[in-house]
Amino acid sequence: MAPPAIDTSRRPFVLVWELTQACELACKHCRADAKPDRHPDELTTAEGRRLLEEASEFGDGQLVVLSGGDPLARDDAVELVEYGTALGLRMTLTPSGTASLTRDRIDALADAGLRRVALSIDGGSAAAHDAFRGEDGSFEQTLAAAEAARSAGLPLQVNTTVCAETVGELPAIRRRVEALDAVLWSVFFLVPVGRGRVLDPVTPERAERVMEWLGNVAADAPFGVKTTEAPHYRRVVAQRGSDAGDGAASDGIGRRTGITPGDGFAFVSHVGEVYPSGFLPQSAGNVRERSVVDIYRDADLFQSLRDPDALRGKCGACEFRHHCGGSRSRAFAYTGDPLESDPLCAYVPDRYDGPLPEQSFTEGDVSTAD
Ligand code: SF4
Repeated sequence: MAPPAIDTSRRPFVLVWELTQACELACKHCRADAKPDRHPDELTTAEGRRLLEEASEFGDGQLVVLSGGDPLARDDAVELVEYGTALGLRMTLTPSGTASLTRDRIDALADAGLRRVALSIDGGSAAAHDAFRGEDGSFEQTLAAAEAARSAGLPLQVNTTVCAETVGELPAIRRRVEALDAVLWSVFFLVPVGRGRVLDPVTPERAERVMEWLGNVAADAPFGVKTTEAPHYRRVVAQRGSDAGDGAASDGIGRRTGITPGDGFAFVSHVGEVYPSGFLPQSAGNVRERSVVDIYRDADLFQSLRDPDALRGKCGACEFRHHCGGSRSRAFAYTGDPLESDPLCAYVPDRYDGPLPEQSFTEGDVSTAD
């Protein structure tokens, strides 16, 4: 079914609220650079309720993702899901694979109206996943949580980080995603933010091959496939002339997959700062001072990110910029300018003779995805 037509200059498809940066895990790629303890200046329950009320002003069925850290490190997570659901929001959650993710809590979240749970799997085996997540037992806890979600009738999304360390695991993870009966596989191409700075991204050439492989997976698999921070997947799909989950597709929860930071996507940090994305930590305001609706619609940063003709470098000269536009988060991470070129993209537009982005990728020795 085609996604509902939403004017992304007026509302995001996805509003992420980072409930907390607290988390028991110490994953190598963690954007939030998560800590064991909660920050004393986190939005309170009352402030969170007000944020959800504002989010409901975006319009019917606004999708809200409660993330972290581990959102279940807060004891008001179920209450907030219930409150958001009563406001007409579609509430989803991205918990960490820890012992706190018990069947009872998943049942309580389902009863509160949760629409989807997203779990991270970054290796096809316990050894590979646990090494990446920094915690023995995380893989088994994640699989147990997936089973509990299935029992509770909650649709499951699997999130995977692509970097030099994990790229060889993708075929095994893909089989896991299918075995778990997930509805969506969200494949995140590393942006060097937070602890992720110590990881090696894949090279642009390798990213191209992975995206072609994902296009094949999307064409065959019983689950949806979307990329995060890799909008050039849509360029790759368009160049192949296939219909394998391109930017116009829906991801099963009415969420259009062709969204980018600031254009269909917004992120509220644990202390209320509003970013275009968690991977683009440039604040456009704070919800303690201004409505998230006003910030999303009117802040200069958000408006510039919605204008493909404002892009610079080869992205600005690219015929795919309206369909792709490059990862604004990665451009920011490498250059400090969110409108610069995305250095992970191997494509060079015809007749473009300007500077190419610096490429400092040092991919490890990993096997090729099948
Ligand atoms: S050059 Fe930029 S806009 Fe063009 S395909 Fe690559 S990332 Fe996308």
